[in-house]
Amino acid sequence: MKYNFKEILTTSEIDEQREFLSELNAFLYTTHENIGHTTAIGIDFEYFSEFHKYWEKNHKMILNPQIDDEKCLQVAEVFHNIYKKYGDKPFTELYDTFDLTPQKICRIRFFTANQDFRGSRNFKTYAKIYNDDPSNFDTKFILKESKNFLSRLGLTSLSQTDKREKYAFTAAKILNDNDIEPYDLFDFYDQDYAKLRKKLTSTQGLGYGKKKTDMFLRDMRQLNVWPKGKNYEIIDVASDVNTIKVALRTGILKTDIVLLSSFLDIFCYQYELMDEMNAKAWRRVWELWKEKYPNEIVEGPSLMDYLVYKLIGKEFCKERLYLFECLVKEHQFNWHSGRNKTCQICYEKEKVKNPAVVINKDLPCKYLNGKIILKNDSLKKIIEKTLPGIEECPFIEVCNPRSQNFRKLNPPKSISILGRTGWETARIIKGEGGGGLMA
Ligand SMILES: [Zn+2]
Repeated sequence: MKYNFKEILTTSEIDEQREFLSELNAFLYTTHENIGHTTAIGIDFEYFSEFHKYWEKNHKMILNPQIDDEKCLQVAEVFHNIYKKYGDKPFTELYDTFDLTPQKICRIRFFTANQDFRGSRNFKTYAKIYNDDPSNFDTKFILKESKNFLSRLGLTSLSQTDKREKYAFTAAKILNDNDIEPYDLFDFYDQDYAKLRKKLTSTQGLGYGKKKTDMFLRDMRQLNVWPKGKNYEIIDVASDVNTIKVALRTGILKTDIVLLSSFLDIFCYQYELMDEMNAKAWRRVWELWKEKYPNEIVEGPSLMDYLVYKLIGKEFCKERLYLFECLVKEHQFNWHSGRNKTCQICYEKEKVKNPAVVINKDLPCKYLNGKIILKNDSLKKIIEKTLPGIEECPFIEVCNPRSQNFRKLNPPKSISILGRTGWETARIIKGEGGGGLMA
């Protein structure tokens, strides 16, 4: 169906479009009697609309996500080159742990990884809280006073406090019931990452979903808290907007149409599917790498995660090259900082400080002079730490950003099923009108 929305309508067209919009609204956003039920996040829901049913059933076929082996191999070659030059260090480094012992790192991470809803709070914050008063992380204290534990962490002002309390309590209870400390979990589950993963993800009320569990286990291995053990390779790359973005732009993961806006994916089916396929795509890269270079492979796909997420996704693959226009002369130039206020061409030629404004920003890899972003301090710092000496994104040959075919694809966004903007609050009965989401 192609629908032609004209801005200026004749009287007969107005009637037609009125009807069309009403129908579209009813289809997408209204429910009716006997519409039926579905389940999401373990909860029973009445369908939100006919579109909800349709999208649940057909999203996979319509998007048709596929893993491209040829591209996966190209990415594997990039990792191979990194490995050749730097060894496994770029794959095993993670955040600073401030000389804490493995036991302490494990304790802090075990009690906080399940609270990290958005991944925004970092280890440093919690390490400081631990150092200020280690008893904040005492198992018995958390068991008896889960709420106080959360307030010590500064988490009570955030959303979903009841859920958080339960997560803290359940985590402490597992340890208390078995008379072990977080560090002992590894031996308790036979040094088997598969068993540990299963235990954590299947415990009700613990808050360790697949992603948080994989991140926790990855950290324990990557920070050398726990040894290699068994089945480490089952841990996936932690899917997030950054790793999905890089997967789409490198082309290791493809879809038949560009991803829909989250306005249409309000039931999160697209997001969940891409999330799942993304982990599989990075796993495929790891498999191909292992197949071709069996002697240099890192222990599991999750060890590629930090490099992809932190260096590529958050630093290189970001619109951080600013296009400026001089307000005095006909100059345009690229610059690494959006905070610049001066025409750098005038300044360089004549030492005159003429004003300039940002007119656009873009991915640096698309421009021949994109290397200018290396002047950015935060980028400089992370390159020095992770891949010293590199001057542009390691994936530049894979993505081919300067070619005609390159498309700057964006990752999907997820919409929360529960909460203030969730399904239940937005539910509208057909014929009643109005309603919807409110910010
Ligand atoms: Zn100028």
